[in-house]
Amino acid sequence: MRILILGGTSEASELVRHIAGDGRLHPILSLAGRTANALPSGIETRVGGFGGVDALVDWLQHNKTQAVIDATHPFAARISANAQAATTRLGLSLCTVLRPEWEATASDRWTNVPDADAAARELGPQPRRVFLSIGRQSLAAFAAAPQHTYLIRSIEAPDSASLPPKVDLIAARGPFDRASEAALLRDNRIDVLVSKNSGGTATYPKIEAARDLGLPVIMINRPHKACGTAVTTAAEAHAWLIAHHDARTCSERGV
Ligand code: NAP
Repeated sequence: MRILILGGTSEASELVRHIAGDGRLHPILSLAGRTANALPSGIETRVGGFGGVDALVDWLQHNKTQAVIDATHPFAARISANAQAATTRLGLSLCTVLRPEWEATASDRWTNVPDADAAARELGPQPRRVFLSIGRQSLAAFAAAPQHTYLIRSIEAPDSASLPPKVDLIAARGPFDRASEAALLRDNRIDVLVSKNSGGTATYPKIEAARDLGLPVIMINRPHKACGTAVTTAAEAHAWLIAHHDARTCSERGV
């Protein structure tokens, strides 16, 4: 069964490991190409946008795709909308891997905001030392709050033209552990953390470290993400694929 896996997350990498060597499945992994030195996937991989819904429909037809797994990040809303529109148009099955959101505990001091612009406003007028750990794409919103000093962590260096003036950069790829996250926050005298509600375990230690130090967190809520059959883990997506494969095989044999 020929499948497209829309990736860029640890779940997509885990799914690839689950299905590697399974002769029933012929997967192609698709990456947006945001990270120049992506880790090798071990399976056939294409890189870059498709060019919108019509182009994705063409790609799916050209590659005789029979099912799509959307294992993109919870904040990647556009590709999910495109995947839903394209699979609906072609009558293909779509499974979406969406990890659960993080929930605040009684010891957390979160303020929930709808987007990065609101997070920048929520920092307030007084200068603060901010740990900004939201990837590279939404950093430009914080140029509107230049009074703060930002510690920015991303896998690759962000475009400096879009940054606020007072910035310290760290290039690092997770996962991180709770003790080293707490040390990072302490050593840099951080007053407040800004995070996306990404969910999952890889970047949760920064949330635990903020809790340990009693620091406030400005938490950016998830956007709406279009979904097919929703699952929360790579293992469930694998099981969905096998069930789908078996159902197709039965119907092809007329069973
Ligand atoms: P997005 O806003 O939903 O997508 C923007 C455009 O990028 C899409 O319309 C599509 O271009 C292309 N695209 C996105 N994911 C793709 C994929 N897996 N394969 C091929 N093209 C893709 O997505 P985003 O927020 O920019 O995220 C881009 C990638 O980074 C995703 O794969 C996501 O899983 C990963 N990621 C995102 C975040 C985040 O916070 N947003 C965090 C970690 C990882 P066309 O319309 O031209 O097809």
